[in-house]
Amino acid sequence: MYDPNNVFARILRGEIPCKKVYESDTALAFHDINPQAPTHILVIPKGAYVSLDDFTATASEAEIAGFFRAVGEVARQAGVVEPGYRILANIGRDAHQEVPHLHVHIFAGRDLGRMLAKAPE
Ligand code: 5GP
Repeated sequence: MYDPNNVFARILRGEIPCKKVYESDTALAFHDINPQAPTHILVIPKGAYVSLDDFTATASEAEIAGFFRAVGEVARQAGVVEPGYRILANIGRDAHQEVPHLHVHIFAGRDLGRMLAKAPE
């Protein structure tokens, strides 16, 4: 179930400010409030979707194309294509998703290390 009062839904409604970097009919991108890298941008679809599986199962072709085009466009506009960047989407409990509205993180601006931390012993 989608919670219409999650923080990104409130940003989309203009109830909470954000540092916007990109907006289209289908997507919004803004700086993360607690950056984990020199560049840390969040890209979200404007529709009410919790997760990537939910989004790809129920969103229109235009929403899906618009969202993924936005991720690439934001990376280009942020100037991070060289020397590189990482995208990440946390989905659900085991991935520690905090905000239940689909979002892709774009991290860049430093060596981002290996893909995942070593699992605890
Ligand atoms: P998750 O763990 O769900 O993948 O990440 C949620 C992200 O949203 C976190 O990196 C967190 O710092 C960011 N965040 C949470 N609340 C806000 C907010 O009000 N504004 C912005 N810009 N980012 C937020």
